[in-house]
Amino acid sequence: MARLLVGKPILEGTYDWAREEVKVLEELGVTPGLAVLLLNDDPAELETQRRYVELKARDARRIGGYVEVFELHGAEPVKRAKQAIALIERLNRSDEFTGILVQKPLPPGFPEAEVMGRIDPRKDVDALTPDNKKLLLSGYDLYGDLLPCTAAGIVELFMYYGIDVEGAHVAVVGRSDLVGLPLSLMLLRMNATVTVLHSRSRNVREMVRKADIVISAVGRPPELYGEGGWRLAEEDVREGAVVIGVGGKRDPATGTWYFDVDESVARKASAMTPNVGGVGPVTRARLLRNLVISSRNVALSVAACPPT
Ligand code: NAP
Repeated sequence: MARLLVGKPILEGTYDWAREEVKVLEELGVTPGLAVLLLNDDPAELETQRRYVELKARDARRIGGYVEVFELHGAEPVKRAKQAIALIERLNRSDEFTGILVQKPLPPGFPEAEVMGRIDPRKDVDALTPDNKKLLLSGYDLYGDLLPCTAAGIVELFMYYGIDVEGAHVAVVGRSDLVGLPLSLMLLRMNATVTVLHSRSRNVREMVRKADIVISAVGRPPELYGEGGWRLAEEDVREGAVVIGVGGKRDPATGTWYFDVDESVARKASAMTPNVGGVGPVTRARLLRNLVISSRNVALSVAACPPT
């Protein structure tokens, strides 16, 4: 049976590290403050997002930070985007909020790039602004720069469990800005050979079967998406592969969660993340690290331009 790559020790270690960092920040007069914007008013999506945000808020409070959640609903997407931009500009100017996060996914038709692009890159704890995305191409410091939480969290998971990606063939299923794309770029920098697969790829299962490491970040279970759905099963992975399951989706009608990776994979994989307690905690850990980094950025700018 596969060794389980649980994320909890990384999250616990990050709590300890972050608490010490917060003490130093307090001496500089800065307390980490996280502003979260919830802009999706689809009832099922909103319910899921509120749960995720509650976990993030609990983590931030646990290390001595504070959190405020701003929910903008009702107005049609373009009007809501304008309201969000006005709020983001206010948050950018405030020394009270050191990190800003817009919870994804956003509703269909929402001008996402315009809104994300308004976040001050120094406070961009999800690393989704153009400036922070550029780091993935130009080079970054894994522990000092703002990097996408799930991608950087998975890199940390590999390092923690001693999984060497150098020279390994890694198949990444999913190419989103949030997970698949940044993770693929980071793995390339770590000298992996990366195959990036998506909804238009041919022979996805065949490609996955050749990989030493498989990362599945789709979130379209066949139960809800029929033919266009995706799930990785035992027969899709080679003997001894390492499997990282990122995707999951809750059925709004029944509340049941469906995940990208079937549990049968454990019979063939040498190591894998559990569907609950694997990638989730490392993503949360990275958000805390990013919040500390963004708070340091604010501390530096306050020191450079003290309030008069
Ligand atoms: P996303 O933006 O919807 O991207 C999904 C990706 O999957 C797209 O690149 C899409 O291809 C690809 N895809 C869709 N159907 C496919 C199929 N049948 N075969 C192969 N590829 C297919 O989602 P995301 O933001 O990357 O998130 C992915 C999943 O991870 C979601 O379930 C999300 O909830 C989960 N997630 C979990 C965590 C965590 O902490 N555990 C963190 C982040 C995300 P195209 O590009 O061609 O459309």
